[in-house]
Amino acid sequence: MNDPAHQEMLAPLQASVKEQGDLVRQLKADKAAENDIKLAVTELKARKKKLEDKLLEISKVEEGDQIDRAKLEDLLKQRFFYDMSFSIYGGITGLYDFGPMGCMVKTNLIQAWRDMFVLEEQMLEVDCSMLTPESVLKASGHAERFADTMIKDLVSGECFRADHLINAAIEKMLTDKKISVEKKQELQKLIPLVESMSKEEMKNVIEKYSIKSPSTGSALSEPLDFNLMFETSIGPAAKIKGFLRPETAQGIFVNFKRLLDFNAGKLPFAAAQIGNAFRNEISPRSGLIRVREFTMAEIEHFVDPSNKTHPKFDSVSDVKVPLYSACAQMDGKLPAEMTLQQALKDELISNETLAYFLGRIYLFMVHIGLDPKKIRFRQHLSNEMAHYAKDCWDAEVKTTYGWVECVGCADRSCFDLLQHSKATGIKLVAERSLAKPTERSIVEVNPIKATIGKRFKKDSKLVQQTLASLSASEVEEVANNLSSKGSHSLAANGVTFEIDTTTVEVKRYKKTIHVEEFTPSVVEPSFGIGRLMYALFEHNFKIREGDEQRTYLTLPPAIAPYKCSVLPLSNNAEFQPFIKELSKNLTRVGVSHKVDTSSTAIGRRYARTDQIAIPFGITVDFDSLKEPHTATLRERDTRKQIRASMLELPEIIRDLSLNKRTWKDVIESYPSFEQQENTK
Ligand code: AMP
Repeated sequence: MNDPAHQEMLAPLQASVKEQGDLVRQLKADKAAENDIKLAVTELKARKKKLEDKLLEISKVEEGDQIDRAKLEDLLKQRFFYDMSFSIYGGITGLYDFGPMGCMVKTNLIQAWRDMFVLEEQMLEVDCSMLTPESVLKASGHAERFADTMIKDLVSGECFRADHLINAAIEKMLTDKKISVEKKQELQKLIPLVESMSKEEMKNVIEKYSIKSPSTGSALSEPLDFNLMFETSIGPAAKIKGFLRPETAQGIFVNFKRLLDFNAGKLPFAAAQIGNAFRNEISPRSGLIRVREFTMAEIEHFVDPSNKTHPKFDSVSDVKVPLYSACAQMDGKLPAEMTLQQALKDELISNETLAYFLGRIYLFMVHIGLDPKKIRFRQHLSNEMAHYAKDCWDAEVKTTYGWVECVGCADRSCFDLLQHSKATGIKLVAERSLAKPTERSIVEVNPIKATIGKRFKKDSKLVQQTLASLSASEVEEVANNLSSKGSHSLAANGVTFEIDTTTVEVKRYKKTIHVEEFTPSVVEPSFGIGRLMYALFEHNFKIREGDEQRTYLTLPPAIAPYKCSVLPLSNNAEFQPFIKELSKNLTRVGVSHKVDTSSTAIGRRYARTDQIAIPFGITVDFDSLKEPHTATLRERDTRKQIRASMLELPEIIRDLSLNKRTWKDVIESYPSFEQQENTK
């Protein structure tokens, strides 16, 4: 092998092999580098796309965002849509009175809600007491947990909502030009966490950043819980502690048995309630958005937990909604628009019934006139959601105050019914048929009426209620203890009662069962009427091009206070009989209208009706006096006018208001009328 001739022959071959090896290694390295470059390019492309999406969203939202809130508030105040309550006494923050226009918009909004939910879904509407005894709110968890974290100014005693205070302090720190990059990043990371921070975490943040009272610069108290319910007492002897209800839902839960009976024992069914709720908000602000008394419209849809399909899901499965899932929020991604069907397939939404309601809520919000570009559904993060909730989405609306939750929609499992059942000893259950009858061993632990009263005196009702609310396994445990030890320690409301065979009797028997009982789950869409109303005003607030003073509201006819105005061109007496006749005929076909016979110029009167969102206006002019009698009809947004027979006009407006006819169709069917809109 060491033969030099042989070596000589091999050398070039070895060199060639080495060369080829080097080449292969080089190729591999090139390939890896190429892959790296490809990956980097893909990543850059993805980042670029994200940035573009973000910019697009910002520009989309900002396009329609440029409303002058002060101008809108001016209009709402001036035309008495709503204003602060008791203002001649200085007013109370968080309390508002609705004026004539606000009342009509609110009524129409509620009517639209009733039509879309109660009527269309055949829900069972109830109207329950607002004054609620403590026992109900203890069972629901509100007495203990319906609280916000508050912080006090240690000198002035002023109270602040802790999360608002911390957020404002962070924002202030971020505006400091001298802030270091590290601190800026640290604070920015903190912002999304503030809302769900514990009291301890808030305390640490306040200490770490030396946050002081924003009003006086004084030191702050430790964060403390503040229950938001308004407390009162019921009856002259003040023996029954009560609260103004913080939501309408509990009224439905406590009537569950009656409602189920009314529905012939069948599930699913939904009950609904519209009414006022009261929350003693720590720092009410942002107009109608955070108030202390507000109207809610709530739905409790009861469903078998083993089958959460919805019989009408197909009707919304193709509806595309912007979903801002918990994952997207955590990953800093944008909301994704997708059909509800796709969202279910991707397991973004936990069940079909919840998805069905998200679809209906979205359609309702668009129907009442909210801008679809400014609506999104935000899923609760796990730390925001109640422990019993299966899934929860908020319908949020973009306003000049940011994204505001207007509707909450949660799958609350069977928590509420179970809680009220435990507290009252009354079974709040439904039945489902078994596939085939089965024989079951039944165990009952029944109170012996003659002795239980004597033994437990005033507590005997509590003992009996507790016995009645025991689950099957708990009954089995009690029965076993009674037969093995002759007694059982029964826990009720934090007290233990010793029961034995002289006070209760155990019954065991076999029974053929055809049905089984279960506690229904509940899906709860919960609407804040005031917030929806305010968002509607913002999304529909417009200023006429070239005339900053001419502000108006483009509310859809279904929501506008009046559908039509009736205006004589001038105060010429000859117009009066026609105005009266038109008004009578409009009333006959159910069109709400406003007659304005003031002598102001017609253009100014149009501007006034535009401000209160009246979509159509009839004007009686000199041509109206001639036979056949006609009048002009003007549409608010386009300001286009047509001329039509006075007899036909009431029905045209009724059809336009009910969306049975479009303005385009009307324009094409009648001669147009050109007139200067003189505003002077
Ligand atoms: P919640 O029970 O807290 O999920 O509230 C249900 C709905 O009631 C929300 O989506 C809001 O529209 C409305 N809401 C809650 N609190 C207030 C408040 N303080 N002022 C006005 N509306 C509120």
